[in-house]
Amino acid sequence: MNRLILPIFLSWIILNELHAEKPNILWIMSDDHAAHAISAYGGRFAEVAPTPNLDRLASEGMRFTNAFVTNSICTPSRAVLWTGKYSHRNGVYKFTGLDQSQPTLPKYMQAHGYQTGFVGKYHLHTNPVGFDHWSILPGQGRYHDTAFVEMGDEDPSGIVTKGKRTAYEGWHSTDIITHKALEWFKEVRNPDEPFFYMLHYKAPHDLWEHAHRYDDYLADVNIPEPANLHDHGSGRSPALDQSTQDIAGTSRHTQFTDAINAMPPSREKRSVVYQEYMKRYLRCVKGIDDNLGKVFAYLEESGLSENTIVMYTADQGFFLGEHGLYDKRLIHEESLRVPLIVRWPGQVAAGQVREEMILNLDYAETLLDIAGHPVPDDMQGRSFKPILQGNRVEDWRDAFYYRYYYSHFDTPSHYGIRTQDLKLVYYDTRDEWELYDLKTDPTEMYNLAGDPAWKNRLASLKTRLKILQKEAGDDPSDIGDFPRTGNAELDQFEKERLARRNAR
Ligand code: CA
Repeated sequence: MNRLILPIFLSWIILNELHAEKPNILWIMSDDHAAHAISAYGGRFAEVAPTPNLDRLASEGMRFTNAFVTNSICTPSRAVLWTGKYSHRNGVYKFTGLDQSQPTLPKYMQAHGYQTGFVGKYHLHTNPVGFDHWSILPGQGRYHDTAFVEMGDEDPSGIVTKGKRTAYEGWHSTDIITHKALEWFKEVRNPDEPFFYMLHYKAPHDLWEHAHRYDDYLADVNIPEPANLHDHGSGRSPALDQSTQDIAGTSRHTQFTDAINAMPPSREKRSVVYQEYMKRYLRCVKGIDDNLGKVFAYLEESGLSENTIVMYTADQGFFLGEHGLYDKRLIHEESLRVPLIVRWPGQVAAGQVREEMILNLDYAETLLDIAGHPVPDDMQGRSFKPILQGNRVEDWRDAFYYRYYYSHFDTPSHYGIRTQDLKLVYYDTRDEWELYDLKTDPTEMYNLAGDPAWKNRLASLKTRLKILQKEAGDDPSDIGDFPRTGNAELDQFEKERLARRNAR
């Protein structure tokens, strides 16, 4: 090699090594997107409402079939994702703000030399920290004519909803969030630094207001019903007995049309509501999939896709009519499971499917590990980077701890564990148990907690639950009524709100 070529060759190697050490990370997340509403996951919507762009991501990367959350509700799950800690450790048990003075994934990434950006649904109430740029929806945000609070327009109180809003008239939230992300890539991104970018959609959260161009999508299609659409838990499940998540109930979410609203509660009404609900939900999903097509096309055109990890997930799962329910909260499979798809060219072999139990608790650790940053000792999950790289991890978890704190919809608070084939749930305010054998009863229709044949298994699972609860550092008497947002004004507001609710 001559004297001219050698230095060029060496600097090419060094640049490539640096790039390999710190790959770009694009973390895409939707709100309430159930895994079984993505056709790559199969299921009853795969044929009627396919998601080709997400399917392509799965075919080019790794799809996890057992990715779960530790608290199946929006704001708390997001706090887990940001911190790698359970709710009782990160301070967000319910719909309260995240104390942004604590270490978070974006802060670590920024300090580690990443250019950090964030657009879309945030819902952690206190102004985000750890970003070079952000543009977020205040609170739940609007589906149409979506308004954002931009970095620089935040309120000095630190409370997101008090920030100055800029509305985008005529835009649907999924479209404008994508548009802003692409603007960031084209105009703000610094090509000399790796990026960590969070692209987080509002859809398909209720009230499922899809873009008008999908008004006719699925209009004449009969959406297949789940076998347990007409289930109710009477005498079997405190969750199903007490919760008002029934899709045919009186909740505002079921009042789609006057005709539906006028129907008395009945089996027929549940079927009618189900059709309307699923069409609106799947139109929102279609909007996401179409927009992801644009994002993936840009990554390819720009040459970024080669060195960019794309992770797609949701903040929790969602009932799509199973047990007659919509919404989330419960430890039941449809609510507990999330989609998790990761494309990482050169590291993840295409078309892989893995069954290990991955938790939302693991994401921060994994992304830091991938970025070449040490995993902080106080995080409570585990990096699944070795799994992404195709390895078998012998001592990977075979069970995990879950806890939901009462907020609304009358869904009773509970905690429990899920093992590879069993689930034990304890409703702490009702002192009742549920036990499911997921192998023989994957849709959780038979509560075995009172079955004498399961007495010994029940006892050993109760012991395991106590051990995992202790390992997680949770105290069952801590019911989450003392928010720790790091903001005195917000803490006071939340305490008063929770006290009013408790008095009802
Ligand atoms: Ca959510």
